[in-house]
This record gives sequence, C-alpha cells and structure tokens, in this order.
Amino acid sequence: MPNVTEKAVGCVYLVGAGPGDAGLLTQRARNLIAACDVLVYDALSNLSFTALAGASCKKIYVGKQPGKHSVRQEEINALLVEHALSGSMVVRLKGGDPFVFGRGGEEAQALEAHNVPYQLVPGVTSAVAALESAGVPVTHREVARSFTVITGHTKAEEAPAALLQGKQASRFAQYAAVDGTLVFLMGVAALPEIASALIAGGKEPETPVAIVEQGTTVRERRINGTLSTIVQIAAREQVKNPAVICVGDVAAFDFTSSRLPLAKKRIAVTGTAELTEKLSRKLKDAGALVCASPYMQAQLVSEVALPAFSDISWLIFTSANGVRFFFSRLKALKTDIRALSHVRFCVIGSGTAQALAEYGFVADYVPERYTVSDMAQGLCSLLQKENAAGLSRKGIICALRAQEGSSDLASALDAACLSWRDIPLYALSVCEAEISALLSTVDVLDYITFASASGARAFFEHYAASGTATPLSEACAFVCIGAKTAETVRDFAARLSLHNRILTAAGFTADGIITAIKGDCHA
Ligand code: SAH
Repeated sequence: MPNVTEKAVGCVYLVGAGPGDAGLLTQRARNLIAACDVLVYDALSNLSFTALAGASCKKIYVGKQPGKHSVRQEEINALLVEHALSGSMVVRLKGGDPFVFGRGGEEAQALEAHNVPYQLVPGVTSAVAALESAGVPVTHREVARSFTVITGHTKAEEAPAALLQGKQASRFAQYAAVDGTLVFLMGVAALPEIASALIAGGKEPETPVAIVEQGTTVRERRINGTLSTIVQIAAREQVKNPAVICVGDVAAFDFTSSRLPLAKKRIAVTGTAELTEKLSRKLKDAGALVCASPYMQAQLVSEVALPAFSDISWLIFTSANGVRFFFSRLKALKTDIRALSHVRFCVIGSGTAQALAEYGFVADYVPERYTVSDMAQGLCSLLQKENAAGLSRKGIICALRAQEGSSDLASALDAACLSWRDIPLYALSVCEAEISALLSTVDVLDYITFASASGARAFFEHYAASGTATPLSEACAFVCIGAKTAETVRDFAARLSLHNRILTAAGFTADGIITAIKGDCHA
C-alpha cells in the first residue's frame, strides 16, 4: 500500500517565454506561471513575466548576475528535482523556446533520471521572431528555401578564434556552402570570426547581413551590412547581446510597414496592470514598440468596510480598478447584489463604465469630458434638476477609490456643494523591479505615458535616485492623462532640469492617450 503520509511528487514545466514582447508569451505559459509554486527563471528579455506569478510563489533567479558566476547547469537541475520531489509545481521559464539552445533537453534528462514528471511548453523562438519583428523573413520564395540556426557560442575556456580552427573551421565551410539563410544565436562576441570563416568557406563577401538586437522589445534595433562590412558596422554601433545575426539574401528585405500611424515609435506605458495592458495592446496595433511598465500595483484595503447600501444614493467610481475591487469585496462579504438595486452609479470615463457593465450595471452618469471637475459639476446639476422637479432621493454619495486618490475629487465635489463620503477601497504601491526595468529603457524612448500624479511622482523620484544611470532621451515626450498628472510632471521636469515636451491627453482613456500621441507624431 502506498504510504499516504508521503508527499506526492510535483511536476516541472519547461516553459518557453518567447523573445521578450508580452504578447508573444503563450497563453499556456501565462497560465502555468500564474499557477506554479516555484518559478525558476533566467535573465529574460522581459522580467515582468515573473510578476504574473501568484503572491505565494517562490521565485528563483538563476541567470547571470553582474560580477558573479552564473548558476551552473547541474545546480539548476538539482534545484528543479529538489522542488518537484518535495511536491511543488515548478515552472522553469526560459527565453524563446526551451529546446533552441535553451538546454531544455539536459534538464529533461535530469528530471527523467530522478523520475520527476515534466512537460515541455514551446515558446516563440528569437531565431525567427527577433528577425521577423525587425522585418527580416527567414525564408522567402525564390530567395531562401531553408534556414539553419547555428550557435556562435564557444566554450568559456575558448576564445572566439576557436571557430576558425580544426573541426569548427570545416563546419563553417559547410555552412558557407548552404544556399539558404544562416541564423546565428549567441554570436555577437564571435562576429568577426563568423564573418571571416564564412568568407573563407566561400560565401560572397557581398552577402547581406542583418543583426537584430533585443528583438520584439522597446529596445529593438536592426543593423544592416554585408559579410565584408558588418564587423566594422557592428563595432561602431556597439551591438550587444542578445542579438540574432542573419546571413543571406533575405537580410536585404525589410518588411516593416511605415504606413502604420505609430510605426517605429518606442513607447513606455506606465500605470496599473489594468491600464498598461489595454493601452499597450492598442499602441502595438498601431505599430509601436511598447514597453509596458505596470509598476503601480493596486491592492484591496484589507477588511475594508462597505457602507450599508440602504443609506446610499450614489456610488462614484474613478477607475476600473475601483469597480473590480468593489465587486470582489461584495462577493467576499457574500452580499447579494440586489442590495444595490436602488443605488445609482457615477463613473468618470468609458473604461470605468465598461468595467461596471461587466457586472451587469449600466452607469447612470458619465460626464461628457472625463475630468473630476466635469464629473462633480455634472452630477451636481443633475441632482439640482431632480430637486427642482421634486424627484430628489435621500441618501449618501460615496466615492470608492484609491487610498492615494487625488485631492481634486474632494475639492471638485466640495465646490459643487455635494455632501459625500470617501471610502479608500484599494491602496497603490510601487513595484521596484518594474520601475528599474523601465529606467533601463528611457534612453531610447519617444514617449512615456503617465496615468496619474502618483505614478508620475514614483517615476521621477526613482529616476532622480538612479543618478540618471541611463539618461532620458531628450526627444522623449511625457504624455499625461489629466491636468493634475501634467502639473506633477511639469513640477518634476522643472526640478530635474528636464526639457522634454509634455503632452496632456484630452480624455481619461486609453484612446485619449493614443489620440494625443498620434496627433504629436503627425504634427
Ligand atoms: N532559447 C532561446 C535562445 C537561447 S540562446 C530562443 O529560442 O530564442 C540566447 C540567444 O538567443 C542570445 O544570445 C541571442 O542570440 C538570442 N536572443 C534571445 N532573445 C533575443 C531577442 N529578444 N532579440 C535578439 N536575440 C535574442
């Protein structure tokens, strides 16, 4: 009989994370990361994937760290085995696809040897995707009938020159004879040797070469040349890893449409996960390279008390987050939503109205312009009209919003002589890892969007504290939702002597921001 007290063996999922863009992480990878007990990950192009894990997930970084040896493969294998044997569901997350130079096979063998169940989850490989994102097709009719993916990595104890000797040199002669596309991963350090070995092997010096650095991310960069010129060009441009090198006639193509309204624009989107996700998607659809930075994290205020609904006439929501937290709290309190049947809802914008609609409630009042003062004045005149018509209903107006919500709402409602109660429903905090990932991209940005004064404050405080290690590009414009956010950005810009342009989006919506950016691009 099996020993019932023995803990069941867990499972290890060897998961590909794709080349960096959040949209290229598979749905299955997303679900597994969210569900796992232990997440073992490398130096991924997009560290925000680790934020998809649950609060109780143990996250273990096994990638390279500056100034330290990277964790040895045997240690990683042992780590996976140990956690799985103690019953955990482990996700081993790797860039691209686990089997494309990802050592996924070695890990699978180690798990097999210890009778640990495992599963492989394919990812989008950079060998194809990084090139494609920058407009290079790995095959093309009548141009390239094959593509060969080759490692440019040499053993730690060997210099790249080893590629030019013995067995390696004869291998390169064979690559040179291949008529299709050659794709090199991990090849930046050995680029001079790769180029000369291919020429020595018989490839035309005029063969086109494209290098794509950090493909699919906001830092994506493409460098073009030929086998005879690329070494010099790459040195001048200071090409760094991770980069894919493509050799062959396809490298002369550039399938990127310049007709998309935001083609080639590099945009960082800051705020809560909710907003950054929606806005990033729309900006990508318009052709931009986007870095979503959801460094503002919202959390329900624990044990928050909700008022007795019988006393309430109106509920005000200023964000979709507020709506979601409210209904999740109602659910936790096992409140029957029919208790809200007499309550009316005032929301600040279409996004918030949409969130409300998801729960089956149609907003009773949405101001025409999405600003707190328009909302307060509109609500006030609506109530006055009802009063005059003898239709007034008794009850309290409650605003359910972030603890750190702006004082603008209070002043606007007070100015409109409305008596109301503020209920801090959720708290906002700043995720340091997200903000530092963002700070490392600010030198290449065309735009950075801010959705709240508190979000802008967090960014500039961290930027100042970073000693401007990566200086903000002077061409980068700050795009703000709302006058209050713009005012905060203006204050910080003055304090930090930043002369970047500041744009204010007309409305409190993702579309408002997009319109502002498009308008600016085509001005
Ligand atoms: N399993 C990965 C490859 C791991 S080897 C995959 O399938 O993509 C690491 C190499 O992948 C890097 O040296 C670089 O050559 C390439 N690489 C990974 N991500 C990249 C990216 N976003 N842009 C360009 N090259 C990338």
